Amino acid sequence: MPPHALAHDDQGRIDLRSLDWDAFRALMVDEWGDSATRARRVFRHLWTQPFTSFEAIPNLALATRRMLEQRAYVPTLQTEQVIESEDGTTKFLWRCEDGAVIESVLIPDNDRLTLCMSSQVGCAMACTFCLTGDMGLKRQLKASEIAMQPLLVGLSLPPEKRIANLVLMGMGEPLHNLDNLVPALTLCMDDHGLNFGHRKITVSTVGLVPKMAELAAALPVNLAVSINATTEEQRRQIMPITRKHSLAELLDACRAFPLPSGKSILFEYVMLAGFNDADEDAVRLADLLEGIPSKINLIPYNENPDRDLRRPAPERVTAFQALLMQRGYFTKIRITRGIDVSAACGQLGKARQRNAAVSAPA
Ligand code: SAH
Repeated sequence: MPPHALAHDDQGRIDLRSLDWDAFRALMVDEWGDSATRARRVFRHLWTQPFTSFEAIPNLALATRRMLEQRAYVPTLQTEQVIESEDGTTKFLWRCEDGAVIESVLIPDNDRLTLCMSSQVGCAMACTFCLTGDMGLKRQLKASEIAMQPLLVGLSLPPEKRIANLVLMGMGEPLHNLDNLVPALTLCMDDHGLNFGHRKITVSTVGLVPKMAELAAALPVNLAVSINATTEEQRRQIMPITRKHSLAELLDACRAFPLPSGKSILFEYVMLAGFNDADEDAVRLADLLEGIPSKINLIPYNENPDRDLRRPAPERVTAFQALLMQRGYFTKIRITRGIDVSAACGQLGKARQRNAAVSAPA
């Protein structure tokens, strides 16, 4: 078991919800000498039920229960706030054990629910248009803190409703926390637990090039790439990561990304008025993606009061889309959701900080 998979609390007890099944089994069966059946029972309980105490897990030998109580613990996320938008989007604010607050956004799309999850507290990527970037990276989320987002949202839904898709498009850069993301998504896919198919999970990245191949080697999930610009210079201006990994390098990594037949990479493109929304950008984007199985999501910029950036007019967005479609790219305009509760793309984290600043004692 890699050491990073073992998260502990301050009393040295193991965080059981950070262990995927292989690690969980290694601990309970190989190390503690318990039976695989009991290990499975505990694991299934942790990932299908709200946890109250080890006493509440049925049919456990007393010795097993004692062992769990002494050496392990089950973390949770406290619900800080649940805010519903007029458009049906729901933002969940969670308080972690150390007081950090993270966010998940539940987005209804026709009759399907998509959960947008966070992978870090804050983010180190500092993209100029994104408010989460202003926070900097506070810390990595543990595997349990990532995987408990769909667990707890799922448990809060009425029985007829179910989350259909998971997207790692909330706070943070998921590939900057790959060591915890991999066990977390393995937990999301476990058919004794959360049971999401790998095709239902999408990991979105700014383009941490070396980590893209590592992700593909570890998990067969979908990849989304926030490309956002069409020249090296333009991308450097809004996404500092481009200084480390150029646009050309990123596109090479996309070409090399192992895709099952019929699958494509989702390219996200934030549209900023007068900056990257011209016809020439659309043509360049189409040229850049030539030969890569692609789908494109155009995201009209969600404006933030402390930014000088503007959202393009709707006609500009549709003209840009039309050019890409002419070139044969499946292109969707991402509808802004949850703007009234600061749940839209690029707005996570900051609104709460601002509120906190306002209410802080002088
Ligand atoms: N760090 C990852 C995961 C975050 S996904 C990534 O960048 O892919 C968040 C998506 O929202 C990204 O595609 C990002 O480019 C986009 N985004 C960020 N701020 C935005 C804003 N203000 N308006 C519209 N889209 C934004």
